[in-house]
Amino acid sequence: MDLVKINGNTYYIKAPTNAGVYLFDNRDCLLIDTCFTDKQAQEIDKILKENSFNLRYIINTHTHLDHCRGNLYFQERYPECKVFASEQERPFMEHPYLLGAIFFSASPLKHLDPAPPSFSVDHYLKPGTHDLGGKLFRVIPLPGHTRGQIGIVNPDRVCFLGDSIFSRQVIIKYSLPYLFDLEGSIKTLRFLPEIDADCFLLSHDEGVITSKDLPELVNYNLANIEKFQLQILDLLKQPLTREQLVKEITLSNNIVLNLLEYHVIQTTISAFLTYLNQEGLITYTIDHGRLYFHQP
Ligand SMILES: [Zn+2]
Repeated sequence: MDLVKINGNTYYIKAPTNAGVYLFDNRDCLLIDTCFTDKQAQEIDKILKENSFNLRYIINTHTHLDHCRGNLYFQERYPECKVFASEQERPFMEHPYLLGAIFFSASPLKHLDPAPPSFSVDHYLKPGTHDLGGKLFRVIPLPGHTRGQIGIVNPDRVCFLGDSIFSRQVIIKYSLPYLFDLEGSIKTLRFLPEIDADCFLLSHDEGVITSKDLPELVNYNLANIEKFQLQILDLLKQPLTREQLVKEITLSNNIVLNLLEYHVIQTTISAFLTYLNQEGLITYTIDHGRLYFHQP
């Protein structure tokens, strides 16, 4: 992992999930997302210590564990550190088994249940401007990937985007990254270029992009959504169950799945089904104990 300067007092630690860092004048610092494993959190901590940064605040963009499980490491070692998240993400931090329950629609299979202990959140961030350590940070709702995801614009006009948009590398690698609410994702993607900031940090791979390059990446993400929407609509010229749809989409796009990835793509395809149904483009029928989706 490396500490990379973005602008002014703003840095990020290049990691499997990039961690944003804002340094205050007294060398206190704010981390935006904390990675997944204890080992990753330990490496982040080592970088902070090497640079004499004193961790005082954590903001989590959303509660997927690759963005917030590292909190456990930091909360144990920095009891004075305050954790901030949006109120809508609260249940998932207090009851992380819900993440597996969303995938499995019940108490989850053992391998879908990451089962960390509860995370505590000290303060809930509403949309708007907040004073942290005497500096102003703007909190922007970015729903879609999760309902309560937030973006943060800091005093150096750097915006931390969480997983509201994916890098080209992520889309090429996973084809169809996780989405929970497709209508929200589309609205959020269209909104991103309106955010008044100079630089944007993506959570995975690409790292920092400028406001000039953002619209092109937005279009790349929207085009990928459109591609899968057309594929699903075409497949639903005939009635298919959700499970059949997952099979057809994964085989035709050469997507290889383990148990977790299967449930990620099933959730994302479910988000498409909800959206297409809301738009009046598909309907459903229950027949002989199966739920079929199809064009009207
Ligand atoms: Zn995520």
